Amino acid sequence: MAKIGLVTRLFFSHFLVIVVGIGSFVIIGKVSSPRLFVLHLQQLEGRNFYYLRYARTQLVEGFENVWSRSTFWSFMTGATAAGGLSYWVSKRIMQPLTLMEQITQKFAAGKLDERMPTLEITELNQLAVSFNRMASSLEGVEQRRRELIGDLTHELRTPLTVVRGYLEELADGRISPSPEIYQQLAKETKRLERLVNDLQELSKAEAGYLPINLQPVNLRPLLESLVQKFADQLLEEGPVLRLECPPQLPFVLADIDRVEQVLVNLLGNAVRYTSEGSIIIRAWTELGKFWIGVIDTGQGIGVEDLPHVFERFFRADRSRARHSGGTGIGLAISRRLIELQGGHIEVESQLGKGSTFRFFLTLA
Ligand code: ADP
Repeated sequence: MAKIGLVTRLFFSHFLVIVVGIGSFVIIGKVSSPRLFVLHLQQLEGRNFYYLRYARTQLVEGFENVWSRSTFWSFMTGATAAGGLSYWVSKRIMQPLTLMEQITQKFAAGKLDERMPTLEITELNQLAVSFNRMASSLEGVEQRRRELIGDLTHELRTPLTVVRGYLEELADGRISPSPEIYQQLAKETKRLERLVNDLQELSKAEAGYLPINLQPVNLRPLLESLVQKFADQLLEEGPVLRLECPPQLPFVLADIDRVEQVLVNLLGNAVRYTSEGSIIIRAWTELGKFWIGVIDTGQGIGVEDLPHVFERFFRADRSRARHSGGTGIGLAISRRLIELQGGHIEVESQLGKGSTFRFFLTLA
């Protein structure tokens, strides 16, 4: 079936309405007007205008003649004016749609900064607003993709350069193979491996692919087992690890595996950046929210770094953190995981005094 454009369809639908309107007017006029005219003449004849009877045929013919002519001209003028108006209206409806189509073509070509202007027709304006929202979200995704690739190349380059350097020197015989060199090579490749694993997790979390199984859970057993697990890792002279939470915890809506993932990351960081003092896991309920905090007395984070800790690849002390094996992705993943469970994570910290990472989940 041949495809007919929207302008043509609108024009023809208007045209049909005009034809039906004028057609019924003409037919009814044609049938009833002469009769009414004759009736009117008869009434006049009855009122002393009896001589009209002699001219009746001419009068009726004249009337019909004049009527036909005026109907013809009003038909022509009406049809032209209505046709023109209909064309103008159809064009006005089509214009924004054509513009939208042109913009989508630009999007397809990678130009994502074009937007629809505000439109007068309410429904079309709503469509334009949704269209612009979709465009902004696409632009955001594209922007994050570019940033990620930029960050990623930067992060991959360092270990790759180190590995290549060692391998070239080994091949040239400039250094002789030793267990330390192989250990260094293994460490760098391990780092690459961790980076790839973390990235995979982050990309899944950011794209929302991670299955989140929200259920009413009691988190106390998890907190206890984590304290147990991490306490084993701490050295004699290191910080002490404590759990501070009421014996009965309310049920919260959470995916227990994801909460564990977040807490392992927060505790891992606390252990990594705290050499003495204490690390406390605290749980409390406040204003219908269930909070969990990891509070350490470690090295803390500077004011200028604090707003960036949840950004991926951010490390407050790049060289030190790299040395300790950090990829700077853990907190970005944690934030996303908490958000996916309907919560929020935040940090408070003072350089040299310690940090508090806390997040809330909703009560079941
Ligand atoms: P990483 O794998 O490098 O630890 P994260 O995303 O978990 O990555 O942390 C990002 C950065 O935030 C860390 O490199 C560190 O500089 C800082 N940071 C995170 N947790 C703490 C903490 N408890 N104490 C001090 N600094 C921290």
